[in-house]
Amino acid sequence: MTEIFLTNTLIRKKEKFVPIEKGTVGIYSCGPTVYRDIHIGNLRTYLAADILKRILIYNGYKVKHIKNITDVGHMRTDERQGQAFDPIIVEALKQGKTPQQIAETYTQKFLEDEKRVNILPADVYPKATEHIKEMVELTKALLDKGFAYETEGNVYFDVKKFERYGVLSGNTLNKMSKLLAAVRVATETDKKDSVDFALWKKAEEGREMKWASPWGEGFPGWHIECSAMSMKHLGSHFDVHTGGEDNIFPHHEDEIAQSEAATGKKFVNYWLHAGFLLVDGKKMARREGNVYTVSDIVEKGFNPLAFRYLCLTAHYRSRLNFTWKSLEAAAAALNNLYREVTGYATTDIPKIGCAEYEQRFLEAVNDDMNTPAALSIVQELVDSDYPPSAKLQSLYKFDEVLGLDLQQVAGEAAEVPVEVKNLVEEREQARKEEDFEKADELRREIAKKGYEVVDAKGGPGLKKIISDQS
Ligand SMILES: [Zn+2]
Repeated sequence: MTEIFLTNTLIRKKEKFVPIEKGTVGIYSCGPTVYRDIHIGNLRTYLAADILKRILIYNGYKVKHIKNITDVGHMRTDERQGQAFDPIIVEALKQGKTPQQIAETYTQKFLEDEKRVNILPADVYPKATEHIKEMVELTKALLDKGFAYETEGNVYFDVKKFERYGVLSGNTLNKMSKLLAAVRVATETDKKDSVDFALWKKAEEGREMKWASPWGEGFPGWHIECSAMSMKHLGSHFDVHTGGEDNIFPHHEDEIAQSEAATGKKFVNYWLHAGFLLVDGKKMARREGNVYTVSDIVEKGFNPLAFRYLCLTAHYRSRLNFTWKSLEAAAAALNNLYREVTGYATTDIPKIGCAEYEQRFLEAVNDDMNTPAALSIVQELVDSDYPPSAKLQSLYKFDEVLGLDLQQVAGEAAEVPVEVKNLVEEREQARKEEDFEKADELRREIAKKGYEVVDAKGGPGLKKIISDQS
């Protein structure tokens, strides 16, 4: 058994992973706000959580994974216009639909996008609108304990009351005043202090998505959502919370403050954050026209798993620069891997793997999810002298973490037509009789039918010819 090490944002270094309860792990991942398609930057963050989950399962843990769906629009400030708006309502008005219809449409699209890159489904996808009761209760508890205050139907968290504020992001109260300008602040004006954040907001005139509360009709703040839903499904103290590096502050900092203030105990043991995805070296922005989705990738003729492969080539915490060229290289590398496994698949049934590579692979993925190292071990294994069946056995195991559909691709290729099998046998006979001219002729005939003969140590094998266009 190899121990797992993870970089915990809370302590800003790598540490050994020890679950709260032996053998099981609870993970909460901040999910999408469902008013438009998720982009590949979001997807990279979800992929990092997926790799973590797969590694934990690979190590024998039972994982409970929760990923929320934000289907009530938290206020956002449009940095360019300084206006607060609810993106779900804005999109509903634009499309002539109800906010519920918008949320439902984009929830389905989000789930499909995740599926296209082989992200394992979460155990629960809690919706914010179905957990209003829990959010109201948590807000009430914070008011009762003196960590929050109400003004005219709005409830705010009193940041000054929570001494450990800044524990995750380093944005302590002292530093906050300087940093405030950089923070996304909604246009509330009735706060006691500008560092305070909303737990509950009063519904504005004509708002459709609103709920009754002890403070009048309103809707929850964004941060309280994740605290209420994670604690409901994983308990008030759980193992891992994931997100993108842009979630560290204020979202996750605020989650810690309100959760720990309410329960009086530690909220989460390990905070993991994926690095940004840049496009052509720049931050993705709609005004730059460089915000890509999975559909954009598919429309350009790529297998969406090429994007998954690309993400695996970089460490999850480092910034990943996406270019169409880098995606092409990832697609080519993935196709090479497919060529290999389809070749092995048509030899014999895998029995034993390559222990030395399996050990190294495990050490790599357990070392803070070092997928670039894991991929180079895959390549070394492919280039090694091990018999194809052993390589295949190990590659299938590795794919439980990598998620590249190796077994499926190999399985499809393994269905070799009888006529091709007969030609291979005929050629083998010719070779035994040292009729190499006939053997070569048969090789060409087999190639015409889409297969390449590979003379491996354990006898002849077949590789389905995969073109780079696939
Ligand atoms: Zn969240």
